Amino acid sequence: MSKLYLVPTPIGNLRDITYRAVEVLGSVGLILAEDTRQAGKLLSHYNIRTPLQSHHMFNEHKNVEAICSRIESGTTVALVSDAGTPGISDPGFLLVRSCIEKGIPVETLPGPTALIPALVNSGLPCDRFCFEGFLPPKKGRTKKLTALEEETRTMVFYESPYRLIRTLDEMAEHFGADRKASVSRELSKIYEENIRGTLAFLSEHYKNKPPKGEIVIVVAGKKE
Ligand code: SAM
Repeated sequence: MSKLYLVPTPIGNLRDITYRAVEVLGSVGLILAEDTRQAGKLLSHYNIRTPLQSHHMFNEHKNVEAICSRIESGTTVALVSDAGTPGISDPGFLLVRSCIEKGIPVETLPGPTALIPALVNSGLPCDRFCFEGFLPPKKGRTKKLTALEEETRTMVFYESPYRLIRTLDEMAEHFGADRKASVSRELSKIYEENIRGTLAFLSEHYKNKPPKGEIVIVVAGKKE
């Protein structure tokens, strides 16, 4: 029976892909990719010739019905994002929900995602945590940070290097300058860096050394 696969792809190091992910990408009838050029590079690295179709936040609403019909008529489809696990701060949710509503089987392969290595590497409790993705850049930002002031679980955020310092400073205002945190940059890549300390220390560090690359911030929860 045909189905939808969600296939995680490397977040930096091309070798971080499972044997099964390569097998599935090579055996499905169609791969939906956030950026077909980016996916094309990964596929050619693994010598995979499956047809590609673009599926991103600007066309996913429009395309979901047609993709479901295609799966229902017998094509097994795989969804990949630019990096990491589809659906995690990336397109995926809408398609998964539609497939489930229509009784189409959905299978997500375990694999790369930036939040888990950043969390585990932070040295902060990882038995319970909440993933907040990107904070809203403008509207709703203060409301979100205020709501998180009482959060007791470790919190994980995605952030761009251009907003890192502002975010650390605002977190210090809401959670306290002494709150422990960790910034993971360029995970799995040549210049991977994990810096741990208080929010005040981390802000100072990056004011002296402006950050580049992809970033995950992990912040300790409020002491119970
Ligand atoms: N789907 C991806 C996942 O499973 O992690 C996340 C996609 S989201 C659009 C991209 C964000 O993830 C980046 O801005 C950064 O916050 C984080 N990220 C992705 N790759 C990373 C890496 N190698 N190192 C640190 N953060 C990374």
